[in-house]
Amino acid sequence: MSIQYMVAIKDTHAHIFKVVLTLKNPNSLGQVFSLPNWIPGSYLIRDFAKNIISIKAKSHHHQIPIKKFDKNHWITYPCENVLSIEYEVYAFDLSVRSAYLDNERAFFNGSSLFLLPLGFESDLCELNIKSTNQNQTLGNWSCVTGLTTLSNMNFIVHNYQNLIDHPVEMADFTRLEFDARGISHKRAITGKHNADIKRLAKDLVIICTHHIDFFNGAIPFDESLFLTLVRTNAYGELEHKNSSSLICSRKEMPVLNEHNIIPEYTRFLALCSHEYFHAWWTKTIKPASFHQLDLNTESYTQQLWIFEGFTSYYDELSLLRTQILTPKQYLTFFAQNPP
Ligand SMILES: [Zn+2]
Repeated sequence: MSIQYMVAIKDTHAHIFKVVLTLKNPNSLGQVFSLPNWIPGSYLIRDFAKNIISIKAKSHHHQIPIKKFDKNHWITYPCENVLSIEYEVYAFDLSVRSAYLDNERAFFNGSSLFLLPLGFESDLCELNIKSTNQNQTLGNWSCVTGLTTLSNMNFIVHNYQNLIDHPVEMADFTRLEFDARGISHKRAITGKHNADIKRLAKDLVIICTHHIDFFNGAIPFDESLFLTLVRTNAYGELEHKNSSSLICSRKEMPVLNEHNIIPEYTRFLALCSHEYFHAWWTKTIKPASFHQLDLNTESYTQQLWIFEGFTSYYDELSLLRTQILTPKQYLTFFAQNPP
């Protein structure tokens, strides 16, 4: 049994995604759906449900009532066999933790787009993204995500928790690929930039190899993806098990024909290092209270000083250990950028 999700770009100017969820054998007493109130890695209540601007339910081609009964839960009128929920999501949050859509880019975390049918937490999830090429206004957009691909624009994942740990980016982005210790790594860079891609790939191989060796070669993913949005002046980062979402300033990207390491580029490499380190430290080794997350409510822990603190310490130290920075450069950077 699986939960099937379909995502389509409804209106880039109004920033609206359309989502259709199809469920077999819903609860015959009335099916309850929820949307997360926060996303792992960004530890604040966010109220993503406020962005669902319309919703309707159908069973056997007949519309049935659906009612929102608290901040992030809906219940349908009882029905049998098959239920489909069609809804629209407003997506105009230019951060790494939610969803964004305009005529240059589409980005989403599943925690902003995918309702969870209660009682189906362990079921397979299938995702179909409607081809962006059907819309002439989108130019040469491609799609990239760490989800397992079934076929073109069809993805599968073994449960809802995993589904929402894979952000999706669609845009006309720059691709970068490299291997570290035999593992395939990809990077998609969206936004206007003039970066020295070869230098970036060379430095990332060094950093990723360092982290893999630091954790004794026990790699918690089959491949890794960095999503990067370049803006004039911006910053953001969110870790996932086999990917990460970053937002950086254009001046932080490495410049062609500049061979020295400037503080801005150091900051960007430290950010990449930080998110990659999290694949082990927070996404694999984590506080006990994070093992069965309840995304409806706060999940308190006293241990973020270990998980975020150690990650912040090692993100920069690894630049020294790999000799990307000299001891003097490291100490200067450390003094100017206290963790
Ligand atoms: Zn962190």
